[in-house]
Amino acid sequence: MAWSQEEVEICCICLHGLGTPDISDEKLPCGHVLHEQCVTEMRRQGASARCPVCRESHPERLLTVANMVDKATQEFLLKNFAESYQLLSQAHNVDSDHDLVNFFLGGLCHKGLGVLKDLGRASEYYEAAHACNLDAANNLGILCQEHGDIPKARMFYEEASAKGHLSATCNLADLCEKQGDIPSARMFHEEARAKGHLGAICRLGVLCEEQGDIPRGCSTRRRVPRAT
Ligand SMILES: [Zn+2]
Ligand SMILES: [Zn+2]
Repeated sequence: MAWSQEEVEICCICLHGLGTPDISDEKLPCGHVLHEQCVTEMRRQGASARCPVCRESHPERLLTVANMVDKATQEFLLKNFAESYQLLSQAHNVDSDHDLVNFFLGGLCHKGLGVLKDLGRASEYYEAAHACNLDAANNLGILCQEHGDIPKARMFYEEASAKGHLSATCNLADLCEKQGDIPSARMFHEEARAKGHLGAICRLGVLCEEQGDIPRGCSTRRRVPRAT
């Protein structure tokens, strides 16, 4: 049986026809054509950077999100923040729901590294990541606190703290202390200290001394391991 031209022109990923008006096609450097959205999905899923038809490698064009995050991390560690931001932005174009990509982008916008400092954008990226990324939830709390939105800051700290983020538990304690709620501040510092957070041990000691509980403060602070 002979195949007509129309029957052969299908996307080998989803097996549906190419060249339809409502779905854009993407031509790879090897000449093979696939749906643009199928190529994006392939990169999101972390498949190899090869054409699925002929297996030719297209390391730049088909870079996966995981590859881009790895490269962005390397660039960040080398203090090449602009390159890191660029790679993460590309990754975001492929997978805008990726929690690590959103968290990193939020951090770069928050600190103004590789991109102009933009707390609104930082907040949007953290918002997209916070359900799966505790650091993002904690940083959202910090951003809200900086803006004076204390109820929202508390909500994000509580969310991260409940899932075991000890810095968030400490931030929650500091927030309570600033609000004058000393019993809650002590409770949260105690909780973080019990789980081994060194910062909480110091803060708890200071808090006890400030509250006139000198013996408690001293005994708490003696538990801080000495730096060698
Ligand atoms: Zn397709
Ligand atoms: Zn190919």
